Amino acid sequence: MNKELEFLWAQILSELETVTNLASYEVWLKTLEPLELFENTLILATPTQMSKDILNTKYLSHIEEALSKINPRLSNIKIITIEESKEYVNSQIIPKSEAAALEFEIEPTPMFNEKYTFDGFVVGKSNQFVHAAARAVCENPGKVYNPLFIYGGVGLGKTHIMHAIGNYLLENRRNLKLIYITSERFVNELIDSIRDGSGRGKDSATRLFRKKYRNVDVLMIDDIQFIENKQGTQEEFFHTFNDLYQAGKQIIVSSDRPPKQLNNMQERLVSRFSWGLIADIQPPEMETRLAILKKKAETEKYSVEDKVFSFIAQKIETNVREMEGLLSRVTFFAELKGERPVSLETAKEALKDYIENQKETVTAERVLDAVCEYYGISKEEICGKKKNKEIVVPRQICIYLITEILSLPLSAIGQLFGGRDHTTVMHARDKILKEVKEDSNTASVVKDIKDRLLKR
Ligand code: ADP
Ligand code: MG
Repeated sequence: MNKELEFLWAQILSELETVTNLASYEVWLKTLEPLELFENTLILATPTQMSKDILNTKYLSHIEEALSKINPRLSNIKIITIEESKEYVNSQIIPKSEAAALEFEIEPTPMFNEKYTFDGFVVGKSNQFVHAAARAVCENPGKVYNPLFIYGGVGLGKTHIMHAIGNYLLENRRNLKLIYITSERFVNELIDSIRDGSGRGKDSATRLFRKKYRNVDVLMIDDIQFIENKQGTQEEFFHTFNDLYQAGKQIIVSSDRPPKQLNNMQERLVSRFSWGLIADIQPPEMETRLAILKKKAETEKYSVEDKVFSFIAQKIETNVREMEGLLSRVTFFAELKGERPVSLETAKEALKDYIENQKETVTAERVLDAVCEYYGISKEEICGKKKNKEIVVPRQICIYLITEILSLPLSAIGQLFGGRDHTTVMHARDKILKEVKEDSNTASVVKDIKDRLLKR
């Protein structure tokens, strides 16, 4: 390693030491090794893919900040695995394609992630509907449910299921033309095509864009909520939709909300989204969460004690991605200690920061428990069908507290309360919201329960 680089890195490390806590410093940052400087980018190597992922998601901005503080001319960090670094170290120059990617940030061409298959998708009560619909679409694209509209909260498997459809069709229906794209990319491509087409050869880029999207057999658009407020894109997508639909081509759309809750979306698009099948993914129940963790451990060849799975599944209720993140963190931590299988003690140690930092240790379950305890009623009663005042009021307060403290979709809250729909949830929430403002009695009850919850 050259002296200049060594010195730079030492300075960055001491900067980082002061801004991160000791554990993350020891576990993550110290594994990094500076490789070289290229243009304004410092390239760092880390032992495994897992540490690379975690560093990229959690620490990249810290490192970049430290770097630009020490040398304002430098601003980018690129983290690669030791495996990937061999290429760099041997050649001492960056491969051409990489250099280009660094300069222009070229995204890799969209492809289906091979890990996102039906085999890798755990089916439970929360997602069996979507799963069945996706399967049916695979058997008869364009024929059964068109469009298929999938919605659900963040990290619940929408992208996974779309890729699973793609992977399946790639393998079983080789002649079909497929496109999967995030709506964000769709917007960017459209903008580029308009820009490129505005000079000579006017419209040719736009024509190419249209040709590309209107000549497919299956079009999947992920995270459609991104085109809320984007009238031009909605207009273009509307025509794409019509062309494909009329030609009997399959359209699959995902969103974080049902069509009717999308804001500033053309009414004619919203209504088209409902022409086929609308399928929601709910947060997985405990049992499904456990099964997902076990599956993940199996595919990644992690060795983990059973208790660790339950520990993690209890910590995270509403986001599978986050849950998987905790599992890889725990195994990486154990790997450093040379422990296999991962014990519960190690898991707790590895997630200590996470748990302490997590302001929302309050979960929907705990709100339920607190309200039941406060009123001396049971969970079955509060989630059940009873309509007497003794139960209805606590139920409404509970719903109100959940909407206030947690950021859960209303439909998910409805599910918690025995499958009530989102309008019922909304009604309960608004009623208590009003009472809290107007009635000091309700206000103090709500405050009491909240205090108990947040103090724990
Ligand atoms: P979304 O697109 O809804 O935000 P993703 O599809 O990206 O969520 O899923 C987040 C992570 O959780 C992915 O790694 C995915 O494989 C995993 N995941 C979600 N649901 C399941 C499931 N039912 N079985 C297995 N893995 C799942
Ligand atoms: Mg997604």
